Amino acid sequence: MSSSNTTLLVGGRVHTPSSPDATAMAVTDGTVVWVGQDRPGRALHPDAEVIDLDGAFVAPAFVDAHVHATNTGLHLTGLDLTGVRDAGELLAAVRAAATPGEVLLAHGWDETCWTSPRLPSRAELDDAAGGVPVYLSRVDVHSALVSSALLDLIPDAVRAEGYSPDGPLTRAAHHATRRAAYAAITPEQRERAQRAFLRAAAAAGVVSVHECAGPDICGEDDLRALLRLAAEPGQVEVVPYWGALADESSLDLARELGLRGLGGDLFVDGALGSHTAALSAPYTDRPDTTGARYLDARTIADHVVACTEAGVQAGFHVIGDAAVTEVVEAFRLAEQAVGHRALASAGHRLDHVEMVTQEQATALARWNVTASVQPAFDALWGGADGMYATRLGADRAAGLNPFSMLAAEGVSLALGSDAPVTPLDPWSGVRAAVHHRTPGSGISARAAFNAHTRGGHRAAGVNDGVTGSLVPGAPAHYAVWDADELVVATPDSRVQRWSTDPRSRVPGLPPLDPGAALPTCVRTVRAGTVIHEAGATDGSGAASAAPTRA
Ligand SMILES: [Zn+2]
Repeated sequence: MSSSNTTLLVGGRVHTPSSPDATAMAVTDGTVVWVGQDRPGRALHPDAEVIDLDGAFVAPAFVDAHVHATNTGLHLTGLDLTGVRDAGELLAAVRAAATPGEVLLAHGWDETCWTSPRLPSRAELDDAAGGVPVYLSRVDVHSALVSSALLDLIPDAVRAEGYSPDGPLTRAAHHATRRAAYAAITPEQRERAQRAFLRAAAAAGVVSVHECAGPDICGEDDLRALLRLAAEPGQVEVVPYWGALADESSLDLARELGLRGLGGDLFVDGALGSHTAALSAPYTDRPDTTGARYLDARTIADHVVACTEAGVQAGFHVIGDAAVTEVVEAFRLAEQAVGHRALASAGHRLDHVEMVTQEQATALARWNVTASVQPAFDALWGGADGMYATRLGADRAAGLNPFSMLAAEGVSLALGSDAPVTPLDPWSGVRAAVHHRTPGSGISARAAFNAHTRGGHRAAGVNDGVTGSLVPGAPAHYAVWDADELVVATPDSRVQRWSTDPRSRVPGLPPLDPGAALPTCVRTVRAGTVIHEAGATDGSGAASAAPTRA
């Protein structure tokens, strides 16, 4: 560390609205104090510690507005079965990974890709596991192979729907064993998983995550443990959400833990993949069901009112059109109760909000409700032959995740991964938002990038007008990227009327065309503190070492 507390980055390409040709940026005490060209930068900051960026791209670090830390970390640290090609390889992998005293969780087997589709018997799995409780989820996460030692923890599972004495478990039996497997995780396993998650986030250029915790997801102990880790210096910021309705105990918890909101995964409905998102008309591939709705408008409105009055953000997991309709009606009721001004000032949010009409978007914008959306869902499941089209038919599916419409109606967007549902990979999220599977529903690269940076801070209630931009006065949250030549592109015809003209001097972004190599993260910095440095050799990034300033 130099005697000066100012760091001057030079020789880079700095993404800042104040100067599209900026190559230099000065940071003092964790705050951006100046952005411009190298020569004036050196003249103005003669005592600064100078870091030459050698042409790297410097941009606001990402915010991932919807994650599940422990679960993602378990995927990152656990056994990956996506590469096994027959029962023998699966058993060998389990034998090698099983550790006495710890439950073994692994994921990703897909017998349809195996050289022989025969699954291992429970006796074979027990033999390989050596008495360890084992939970091996299939690639689609809707069934699992389990060992007898795991079943011993839940005697009722044998009577549950979907139980099989020898094959994979599905439905209720699967859900019961999954709960038991996660409940059996030791505190050490959990800490390893959470640390792995935080490291992976920092390594992906993410400076802040919105952890969507809740009583039905990972429980209070899990969230407390995560917040303790996140309080260590040099970590990614964890903005905690708790998916529970407002009552005395949840509001107490909000105050005690500094929860940003009672929301995130507060479920109004389920998900399209499992036919549990609430629809106004039946599923195309399951005409016997319209899904599941867990909360009605009155209950949702009471929650919004209680949160508004308590100064806590309210939010909901909402996907299907029937669920969105219920939520919009609830906000109308809440507006009648607290008035437009109080409701809009509270800045509530909706997560996923996949099936929303233009009229509903207008109303949500008027109530200043942010949409926390996951573009990777569309990349995975959108398009004419994707899962959405199978569930809903091509017509209904084409209306899903209408990012350009939401933006045009004035709804603020925040992008997220819902990790571990999709990977922690913000540039892929930006690319998916631009190259939407439904023509016309994508947004410009600039709008998508802003929604994954500034938009995330805004969704968490940071409305100072600078956080998430590299402008003087902003916290120095940035990432340094190895990136191709920058471009200013508006590939989607419908967004051109409101996105920036390429001829104007706006800051460029790396190319995001399908197939283009995405930027790789060199360094991630939170308020001037390095939280990730590529190639750090202790195997933990910069996170566990003494943080350095940059
Ligand atoms: Zn979630």
